[in-house]
Amino acid sequence: MHGADNNQPVMNCDRFGRTINYLRLSVTDRCNLRCSYCMPEQGVPLCSHDEILRYEDLLRIARAAVRLGIEKVRVTGGEPLVRKGLIGFLASLNAIPNLAEVVLTTNGLLLASLAGQLRQAGVGRVNISLDSLEFDRYAKITRGGDLAEVLAGIKAAEKAGLQLKLNMVVMRDINDSEIEAFAELSLDRSWSIRFIEYMPTIRAKAWRERVVPGAEILERLQKKYRIVPLATGRMCGPSRPFRIEGAQGSIGIITPMSNHFCGSCNRIRVTSAGLAKSCLLSEQTVDLKPYLAQDDDLLCQALRQVIGNKVDYHQMADDSFGPASFSMSGIGG
Ligand code: SAM
Ligand code: SF4
Repeated sequence: MHGADNNQPVMNCDRFGRTINYLRLSVTDRCNLRCSYCMPEQGVPLCSHDEILRYEDLLRIARAAVRLGIEKVRVTGGEPLVRKGLIGFLASLNAIPNLAEVVLTTNGLLLASLAGQLRQAGVGRVNISLDSLEFDRYAKITRGGDLAEVLAGIKAAEKAGLQLKLNMVVMRDINDSEIEAFAELSLDRSWSIRFIEYMPTIRAKAWRERVVPGAEILERLQKKYRIVPLATGRMCGPSRPFRIEGAQGSIGIITPMSNHFCGSCNRIRVTSAGLAKSCLLSEQTVDLKPYLAQDDDLLCQALRQVIGNKVDYHQMADDSFGPASFSMSGIGG
């Protein structure tokens, strides 16, 4: 489609030869939780309602991204389920030709009432962020969340026929004692249980002590179970997949800190205010809003620039990396 010079990607490849086929699209920066690893207690500055893109604009961005080779869109937040009209938006997203997959990441609090509608809107798979199976600990980590609501959401999602992935951010001395209990959820359910290394985006005090490296998580599981590595799929993302021998479900380990997976990064991100990012940790954004008033070719060109901006790897584990200037809830993880 274009030459390889001046940051112009060839088809959907970036200048390091990585195929970019995955868009994380945030529909809101609002959230009904205040997870301690994601935002400070007082919350984060929010965009004004005027700044948040209308669904039709988010759809235009998604369509333009598909023209550039995006095959999978993950809808995220803040908490995506708090935005009104989400179900209709998801159905329209699903109707985009050549978009192979629409998936959602949620904290699960509102899933009990929405799971059936999500399925009907064409969502096949949902990632639920859940960091503890103990009521008090869950409330503490999320600063007030009710685990019972998430469990009801999981039940409803299963009943609706949604495939489930559970994402646990592992933090030493906070919830790492539950690694084995989480892994055991995969024994007689077809769920994928994924362990994510804690990322110090808010540079909390003594953050290094909190990070439990993926290798340690695996070692701990291997002490208890025979763990079998699985093949990764083209659209799998950064998770290294395993199975406890004989289990119905699987386990995934995601290591943004101890072993960054930038070499196989396949994604770009767009916030609910229309800021496109080529890397979660990059300070650089491209504001897509001005392009929404122009024709689709210019919007595609702006997205090409985002792909062209992708760096080869991030440096979050370095001491020189200060507190991130963005919030995870604003970007959508
Ligand atoms: N509210 C939704 C949820 O919690 O699933 C979607 C947005 S949330 C920002 C997306 C993902 O980012 C969640 O799985 C969350 O656990 C993860 N996340 C947020 N802060 C993180 C951190 N400091 N380290 C690792 N993962 C983090
Ligand atoms: Fe927690 Fe997700 Fe909300 Fe962040 S955006 S506070 S991870 S629920």
